[in-house]
This record gives sequence, C-alpha cells and structure tokens, in this order.
Amino acid sequence: MDRGNSFEVIIVGCGIAGASLAYFLSRRGLTDIVILEREEQPGYHSTGRSAAVLVELDFVPSVLQLTILAASFLRNPPEGFSQSPLLEQSGIMVMFQGDDWSMIEGVAPVFRQMGVSLELLTPSQVVERFPVVSDDHFDGAVFLPEDGHIDVHELLWSYIRHARHEGVELRCGVEVHGIRVERGRCRGLMTNEGEFTGRWVVNAAGAWAGIIGQLAGATQIELTPYRRTVATFAAPDGLDVTRWPLVSNYTHKLFFKPESRGLLACPMDEDPVEPCDARPDELVIAQTIDRLETLAPCLVPKSLRQKWAGLRTFAPDQSYIIGEDPSVKGFFWLAGQGGSGIETSPAAGQVAAELLIDGRTSLIDPNLFSPARFAKD
Ligand SMILES: Cc1cc2nc3c(=O)[nH]c(=O)nc-3n(C[C@H](O)[C@H](O)[C@H](O)COP(=O)(O)OP(=O)(O)OC[C@H]3O[C@@H](n4cnc5c(N)ncnc54)[C@H](O)[C@@H]3O)c2cc1C
Repeated sequence: MDRGNSFEVIIVGCGIAGASLAYFLSRRGLTDIVILEREEQPGYHSTGRSAAVLVELDFVPSVLQLTILAASFLRNPPEGFSQSPLLEQSGIMVMFQGDDWSMIEGVAPVFRQMGVSLELLTPSQVVERFPVVSDDHFDGAVFLPEDGHIDVHELLWSYIRHARHEGVELRCGVEVHGIRVERGRCRGLMTNEGEFTGRWVVNAAGAWAGIIGQLAGATQIELTPYRRTVATFAAPDGLDVTRWPLVSNYTHKLFFKPESRGLLACPMDEDPVEPCDARPDELVIAQTIDRLETLAPCLVPKSLRQKWAGLRTFAPDQSYIIGEDPSVKGFFWLAGQGGSGIETSPAAGQVAAELLIDGRTSLIDPNLFSPARFAKD
C-alpha cells in the first residue's frame, strides 16, 4: 500500500539508533513509520565504522545501566531475530595504571553488584595469558569474560528486516532540510523528496542530531562529534590471533582486537569536529603505531590493510538524550550515543519505543536521558 508521505512516525536517520527504534515500535504494533536516510545505504556513518564490541565497563552510570540491560539481548536475542549469533563472547581485557587502577579496584564491587561478570588480574596473570603485552605500562587489568565482538551488520539488518516485515518503510537518499512546527507542535518535515507529515518526528541523526534539533527550534543541546580512528593490519606470521579478546590499555590509550584473521588497533582518539564524513588523520595513525611499539612491540605491522574514522557524538554530560522535547511537542530525541550506541541499542531502542508510545518506561529512570535536563528556565 502506498501511504504517500504521511506517517504516524517519521524517523530521521537509519543508523543503529533509528533502526532499533523502528524495530521496537513495530514489535509494539506501531508500524505506520517511515525511516528517512540521507545516504544510499543504512549504517554508512558511525554505525558502519565502530569497533563492534560489547564492554560493560562504562563510567557514566546511566550508560552502564543501558549496556547491562542490552547485554542479555545481545547474548540471547529473541527466537528468530537474527540469522547468526550477534555476540562472540571473546572477552575484553582492559589494563589500568596508577590512579586509574586504584579507581577500578574501588569500583569493581559496584560493577559486580550491578551484574557485570569481571575478574581483576595482576600484570603477571595478564602476561601469562598474553605474552605479546609488555608488563611495564599497567598495574592491573579487568577481564570481562562474557563480553566481546558484536556482529554489527547482522544486528542492524535484523532490526531493519523485522521492522520492514511489519510494514515500516525505509527510504534512502532522502535528506531532511527543514522541520515544520506549528503552535509548538511538530507537524512534519521538508526533504529533497518533498514534504512529509507525521505525528512524531524522531531525531536519530547521529552526529547531525544537533542540527536537526535546531531545524525544529527544539531545546538547545550542545552535541559534539568526536572523531575516532581505526587501523587494521596482518598479525605477525605464525601467530593465531583469531580467539584473542579485545586488549586495551585505558591509561596509555590503545586497544587492539582480532579482525578478519588480522588485527584492528585504535588509539582512542577524541578530536572534536563538525559533523562530517570522517576521514582518518595520518598523525593519529602514526600515534597508533607508536603506542603499539610501546605496549605490544611484536605486533607492529610493516604495512596497514585499512584505516577509517568515524564520529562519536556526546551531550555535555555524556548521558544519552531520549524523549520528547519539552518545548516542541511531537519532536522526539534519540541521540548522543557517544561510543556505545551499538552495544546499548537493544535497550535504548526499547526505552525510546516505550517513552514514545506510553510516555513512560519501567526499564530505567527516564529522567537520566530526558532532553528537559538541558532546558533553560
Ligand atoms: C571508531 C568507532 C568505534 C566505536 N566502537 C563502538 C563499539 O565498540 N561499541 C559500541 O557500542 N559503539 C561504538 N561506537 C559508537 C557507535 O558507532 C555509535 O554510538 C552509533 O553508531 C551511533 O548510531 P546512530 O544511529 O546514532 O548514528 P549513525 O550511525 O551516524 O546514524 C545517523 C544517520 O542519520 C543520517 N542523517 C543525518 N542527518 C540526516 C538528514 N538531515 N536527513 C536524513 N538522514 C540524516 C546519517 O546519514 C546517518 O546514517 C564507535 C564509534 C566509532 C566512530
């Protein structure tokens, strides 16, 4: 059935945020939805450029709560949701030094109480498991045996496949350039494919969420995209890295993990940039190799296979923004997922769907994510 350009819900952006919301709304029976994506394919920006891991070690409590809620979905998705497992529990090892390590030793019991399975390891225990790591640059490590690699492609396309099966429309190559608001209520939006009308407009535009908010004249929220860079390369000859966990040095800013029978490394860079199609910076790539030389010298490659960059977009307090705007009715935020939008999507998408349909959720305290926290009196 051609519904023209009139829908109950219009979602702007088909990254993991927009796709997961469409999925959870459609499971609740709300299927009169269109997702508008400017690019020719879903997941082209941050979602397609992530490091693809579940790590239940976030230091922003609201984000940690969402991550823990989402982890059970990733480990045991609903019957028939995906065509292959979403999570490989390959483990996550995070090394810390000095004050960072003291802080971790202090908070480890809290993480455990919240349901995170973790071990604290001494440097010699770490080196025993991973002789490639030099024991000079950390005082201890956290090991998360139940976390690991997420199949992001499978997760994204499973959300989309089920939503479309229920009747949700996905239109790619459609760029939103204006939002129509009348008497404080959002009525629809303007695009290169004409006008769309809807009862709800959802802002799931990732790095562009601040701009979409401005188009609606919604609450001003300073969302900042930070560029993060990744490089991939072959593993040293004769070394089977395929079953390694992700290994990270939090204090000295580097992580590496298996990727396509080789390795992926990231210097955990956080350069603020304007929303854009992010490209890797050569200086940051050089820094990655320098840090690898210091922390795991035997892994330094002769050449790189691939390099890319993507954007991690944060609100000033680093918590997410989920909920209806306090000043523009019908304008709904699902933004600010920073560096954890993939792993939290099964929880954030569900929380967003409940708030949109019911105006409340019992999964988590919605005030932690409310856009109203940025409203000026
Ligand atoms: C290098 C890197 C590593 C990361 N590692 C992890 C990780 O291991 N685990 C994890 O959970 N997270 C990770 N993240 C974070 C994660 O990728 C993001 O939080 C998540 O992808 C954000 O999803 P999104 O849907 O909000 O944004 P996006 O995927 O960027 O989607 C937003 C979409 O909105 C569209 N859009 C914007 N403006 C318009 C418009 N005007 N009209 C129409 N469409 C529009 C864009 O084209 C885009 O497709 C990482 C990110 C990076 C960059």
